[in-house]
Amino acid sequence: MPRTHPFEEISPWVEAPADLRAPLEGDLAADVVVIGGGYTGLSTALALRAQGADVVVLEADFAGSGASGRNAGHLTPTIGKDVPTLLRLFGKERTSRLVRFADAAVAHTEKTILEHGIDCDYAPTGNLMAGVHPKQEKRLRRAAEAARWLGAEVRFVPAGETRERGIPPAFRFGVLEERGGALHPGRYAMGLRRAALAAGVRIFEGSTVEALEDGPKVRARTRRGSVRAPHAVLATNAYTRSTGRKPRAVVPLRVSLFETEPLAPAQLDALGWRGREGVYTAHEVLESYRLSAQGTIVGGSKVVRYAFGSALPEPYDPGAFDAIEGAFRERFPGLADVRVARFWGGWIGLTLDFLPLLGVEGDHGNVFHGIGFCGHGVAQATLMGAMLAERIQGREHEWEGALRRRTLSWPPEPLRWAAAKLFNGALSALDRRTDRRIRALAGV
Ligand SMILES: Cc1cc2nc3c(=O)[nH]c(=O)nc-3n(C[C@H](O)[C@H](O)[C@H](O)COP(=O)(O)OP(=O)(O)OC[C@H]3O[C@@H](n4cnc5c(N)ncnc54)[C@H](O)[C@@H]3O)c2cc1C
Repeated sequence: MPRTHPFEEISPWVEAPADLRAPLEGDLAADVVVIGGGYTGLSTALALRAQGADVVVLEADFAGSGASGRNAGHLTPTIGKDVPTLLRLFGKERTSRLVRFADAAVAHTEKTILEHGIDCDYAPTGNLMAGVHPKQEKRLRRAAEAARWLGAEVRFVPAGETRERGIPPAFRFGVLEERGGALHPGRYAMGLRRAALAAGVRIFEGSTVEALEDGPKVRARTRRGSVRAPHAVLATNAYTRSTGRKPRAVVPLRVSLFETEPLAPAQLDALGWRGREGVYTAHEVLESYRLSAQGTIVGGSKVVRYAFGSALPEPYDPGAFDAIEGAFRERFPGLADVRVARFWGGWIGLTLDFLPLLGVEGDHGNVFHGIGFCGHGVAQATLMGAMLAERIQGREHEWEGALRRRTLSWPPEPLRWAAAKLFNGALSALDRRTDRRIRALAGV
């Protein structure tokens, strides 16, 4: 397809590192073989190595080239579709554990950044789930109340306070998640990679696992070699089908982002977004916006796509790029002369209940997976690493119980495609109605 939009093949956050590790050649043995070198795989490897395990990570491209190097960098305790939905599905006790798990995931990630001295521009600004139309106020007030009642560190921020804080006026009021903030996702991934290498984790890049053979010792096969280990970890999230496994609980969705050119000091002053809170809108398929440390605005989402057969379609998606730039123009009318410098895309792993999965599979119960972060994995994939490491060592992590539940499976194709299309279509129709109401209010 001819490229009409400025496009990054991976993202502006990462490129192949200068010390790229060689592909796997020949047959090796290890205590644990981890497949996938994103936040989940690297965090698992680090946690296992700290207990003395001999760990090999096999990464198809370079560590950090998946969603971990492509995301928007909101370090957020958002969990599930929303708290009221979680309450309906799981009741008070369970939901309370889930929201506290999500807060703990943020705290654990902040600790990880400190512990390994990772310079990733982390700013604990908090994130605002923002109402963009007055009709959303009641729902957001209720959501904030419910989340607080369950122990989450959030509060409703009324319109007066959002103005005082200098939050751009399109974001009228909202639920402020006081824990978390925003970081440079690529530097965070590369920091974990460096820490893992320094700790003695053996990482092989350009090493796609093509098959995983079950046995008392699992064998992970790449084109030119294999690793045999008593335990394997699938840390491949949206990409899991590429390993030959066919997860029924997680489907990949394509998500697109943009970055503007850096704002001039006068434009930043006029914008007045002093607290630099991350923002996501209360749409069904949210829009996200944040200021980066480089003075650019990074935003997007809004349009997600499922491809038949849980394929990973190419990340160049001009329709989505137009939609996310269009939304940005509407929310930031004062920045009409700021150019969008680049677009990119990646894949998230979606479960039917919007919660991540920690599970075990294989004939010998020794293939573990930590997948399905539903677009909230910066914090949750990091904590998942610690949880997987405990599980492999035969212990239960304090938060494992929060995620234990009956796993819901997506239906097989072609029903899966039809269901995804129907669901996505319904959510987009609701969002189009919200957007029409916003325009009517603005007299556009
Ligand atoms: C556009 C976008 C925006 C997002 N924004 C946010 C956000 O602001 N906040 C937030 O919390 N979350 C966000 N997310 C989600 C977050 O990035 C993910 O949940 C998280 O990075 C998942 O980490 P992971 O390690 O599980 O998966 P990944 O980072 O995807 O890592 C999986 C790795 O496995 C490798 N791999 C795949 N197949 C194989 C194979 N067969 N053999 C070997 N290796 C293989 C891949 O190359 C990849 O490196 C976003 C995601 C996207 C795509």
